[in-house]
Amino acid sequence: MALVEIHDLHKSFGSNHVLRGIDFAVEEGEVVCVIGPSGSGKSTLLRCVNLLEVPEKGKVLVSGEDITDPDCHLDAARARIGMVFQQFNLFPHLSVLANCTVAQTTVLRRNASAAGEIARANLDRVGLNDKVNAYPMQLSGGQQQRVAIARALSMDPALMLFDEPTSALDPELVGDVLTVMRKLALDGMTMLVVTHEMAFAREVADRVVFMDGGVIVEQGPPAEVIGNPQQERTRTFLRRVL
Ligand code: ADP
Ligand code: MG
Repeated sequence: MALVEIHDLHKSFGSNHVLRGIDFAVEEGEVVCVIGPSGSGKSTLLRCVNLLEVPEKGKVLVSGEDITDPDCHLDAARARIGMVFQQFNLFPHLSVLANCTVAQTTVLRRNASAAGEIARANLDRVGLNDKVNAYPMQLSGGQQQRVAIARALSMDPALMLFDEPTSALDPELVGDVLTVMRKLALDGMTMLVVTHEMAFAREVADRVVFMDGGVIVEQGPPAEVIGNPQQERTRTFLRRVL
């Protein structure tokens, strides 16, 4: 059984038919990078995987459970999915440590000391054990994004979603975040990553999915999709970004 299965997914905003029948699956331990032009529906697809957007047609199964089913316990399903956004979305009034414990104590009902221990371990994992008492404002964008990753990891997710996690960063800060993500992939985390970092996709992805116009145009190992694309639309896109 795949960790995520998507069947014939459709999503519109008004008359804008954004996702036009998406079928794909992510296996446990797999790293899938989603690439494609701006406006092709990549973020909408990711947001449908944890039901931040509700699709009007199709199914999303997470660990075999249909999260589009109204009877599904959505909070429980969502707690298993970590999401990291382009804008880090940290709580500005909370310390780094508190950013990483608040959902653990409120959603998972962990006690404060257990949550603190888990948060510290994950902050250590992203190289920020010296920043536990800092506030987001005092950190660089790259550090804030690594806190956002530690916060998501502290929920013990089965799946991590990344939506252009390095797009808002100054170029010199991108590397540290990609290094953390690379390590996570090597640790066996299941990851679905929307990115424009082609070198990262080439090196880390097990599979690359190219989207355009709300459909998957082409997918396969990075050496094929990025190295030797079969579709003209993929070639046109890659010519522009490489
Ligand atoms: P990508 O991430 O590939 O750039 P998006 O999924 O963000 O693409 O957007 C795909 C299309 O859906 C765009 O035309 C965008 O304007 C539209 N869209 C995305 N989110 C919303 C929303 N919340 N309300 C209305 N339109 C939206
Ligand atoms: Mg997007």
